[in-house]
Amino acid sequence: MPTIAQALEDVHRRIAQAALAAGRNPPEIELLAVSKTKPATMIREAWSAGQQAFGENYLQDALPKIQALADLPVEWHYIGRIQSNKTRDIARHFAWVHGLDRLKHARRLSDQRPEALPPLNCCIQVNLSGEASKGGVPADALEELALAVNELPGLRLRGLMTMPDPASPREAQAAVFRGLADLRHQLEKQAGLSLDTLSMGMSGDLELAIAAGSTLVRVGTDIFGARE
Ligand SMILES: *Cc1c(COP(=O)(O)O)cnc(C)c1O
Repeated sequence: MPTIAQALEDVHRRIAQAALAAGRNPPEIELLAVSKTKPATMIREAWSAGQQAFGENYLQDALPKIQALADLPVEWHYIGRIQSNKTRDIARHFAWVHGLDRLKHARRLSDQRPEALPPLNCCIQVNLSGEASKGGVPADALEELALAVNELPGLRLRGLMTMPDPASPREAQAAVFRGLADLRHQLEKQAGLSLDTLSMGMSGDLELAIAAGSTLVRVGTDIFGARE
């Protein structure tokens, strides 16, 4: 088993290689370390190795860790499904949310964002794989949602997020990533929004996502090991 520091170094190397292969500059791509289900001690170890942004999916798992690591200025990202009864804790304890797909949740997060904190950074999740079980707004409803989110004072719309069906062929996954990049350009051109983030790519597909323009990869397994 590599140490967390070694695993982080390997992931950074993969990111850099994928960026260079795509004619991109490696620092354009940020690494979010997905620490869901992993203990605070492992997060602290990754922090010591230079990692500052961590992603969590489950509030009941995340909140005790956020408390335990309150001595570190960690940047916490909520990447799980959003539910109405969870928005208050998300608005209070996180700097980013990646799975926004309903205006109702956006309004609650904006209203509940403490005034002492900067606006909550948001990515709207888009469902491009057509899986009914998956979160995400369909592409044809994206512009309306993005324009509405962009008006909310407690939120700062940063970009878009997607997850291809991991069981689909790689070419289909690449098409989903390119589709998200196209939607970002459309929103910038047609709706006049300025979006600096494309949150796409995980342990198994970060090269494909970076080739398509990802600016933030969310990596869990390849940093912290397999989850139970
Ligand atoms: C778990 C998770 C990840 C990380 O997946 P790995 O395959 O472990 O890298 C990324 N994004 C989301 C939304 C997740 O739920």
